[in-house]
Amino acid sequence: MKAFEYAAPRRESELAGLFSGRPGATAVLAGGTDLVGLMKKMIVAPDRVVNIKEIASLYGISADSAGVTVGAVTRLDEMLDSADLDAFPAVKQAIRGINSMQLQSQGTIGGELCQRPRCWYFRNGCGLPTELGRMVERGDNRYHAIFGNRGPAKYVSASRIAPALVALGASVRIVGPASGEAVEGPPKNGAPVAQDGNALGEAIMPLADFFVTPRAPHQGETVLDPDQIVTHIHIPRDEQIASATYEVRQSEGPEYPLAAAAAALRIEAGVVTEARIVLGQVAPVPWVSEAAAAAIVGQAVTPESARAAGEAAVARATPLSQNRYKVQLARVSVERAILQAAGLETGGF
Ligand SMILES: Cc1cc2nc3c(=O)[nH]c(=O)nc-3n(C[C@H](O)[C@H](O)[C@H](O)COP(=O)(O)OP(=O)(O)OC[C@H]3O[C@@H](n4cnc5c(N)ncnc54)[C@H](O)[C@@H]3O)c2cc1C
Repeated sequence: MKAFEYAAPRRESELAGLFSGRPGATAVLAGGTDLVGLMKKMIVAPDRVVNIKEIASLYGISADSAGVTVGAVTRLDEMLDSADLDAFPAVKQAIRGINSMQLQSQGTIGGELCQRPRCWYFRNGCGLPTELGRMVERGDNRYHAIFGNRGPAKYVSASRIAPALVALGASVRIVGPASGEAVEGPPKNGAPVAQDGNALGEAIMPLADFFVTPRAPHQGETVLDPDQIVTHIHIPRDEQIASATYEVRQSEGPEYPLAAAAAALRIEAGVVTEARIVLGQVAPVPWVSEAAAAAIVGQAVTPESARAAGEAAVARATPLSQNRYKVQLARVSVERAILQAAGLETGGF
């Protein structure tokens, strides 16, 4: 591991002086379950590591009539234990899928969303995720993308929880010197204010817009600039929305699913009036399927209509040489996520 400087700020405001705008120069440390492994292998080699787990305002779960807000350094097991999140089964099902007490009790929600791609070429030191396109195309691409893979990025977005959060219309709060609009006025509870008295920038955006497919080598997998962090995730409350996550896994261990889908449905008088269907582990971003949503809206949820939505979801898949099997798994994930959200038997196990 390369030697690095270490900082552990106590307040958001202290972040201002700690980041350089240079990509890769500073790394954010939360639970460390992903970052530390990458640092040990020198795949990530920052000059400075900023531990954000000491910042109290980034921690905890709060709920009101508008929804639930989760601080970025809240651990996954705390989310599982939170009754406030019972209203969002898709989120809890995705966390349970991780199926490792160690990862759930150490990993944070911010780290889960910002974890680096699970591309084995990247993780074996072959280069940045965007530099590996040709290698992936010609090599073993069993676990790579079947959507959004025409550009240089062919990995799959690693987050297991993001599809559920995107389906539920969650938003993220981002702070950093270069982010969004400046926060005016005196500091409020946890509001970001820089050490020199200047306000830090704050931006709140839909989680759906947070993930990006990079096109150039040093472009990241999210909109975050090198000096920005995620501070909170907000899930809007809507009692009428039923949700579920369905994952197709190889085993019961903490391995990533081969394909997954989250469904959020509004069902009125037995008919779906609104739907958001988001696939996971199939594209460089959580893959929103407008086609699947369109297929199920206006229908009652039945095995047939769920199957039609699954077929619509994968109609435009672009599998690589060795991952055609994922098309079928993605189809089944969508079908079963819809059935599960509606409280019907999935036919799976
Ligand atoms: C053996 C193993 C199996 C795993 N299996 C799974 C799995 O099945 N599903 C799964 O989802 N994950 C899995 N992971 C990945 C990871 O452990 C979890 O996703 C975990 O939730 C990451 O959280 P963390 O707090 O440990 O992140 P860290 O390792 O601290 O950070 C991860 C990345 O996110 C960045 N980051 C962290 N917090 C923020 C923030 N607030 N703002 C901006 N950037 C931030 C870090 O700089 C780093 O690049 C696995 C890891 C290992 C080692």
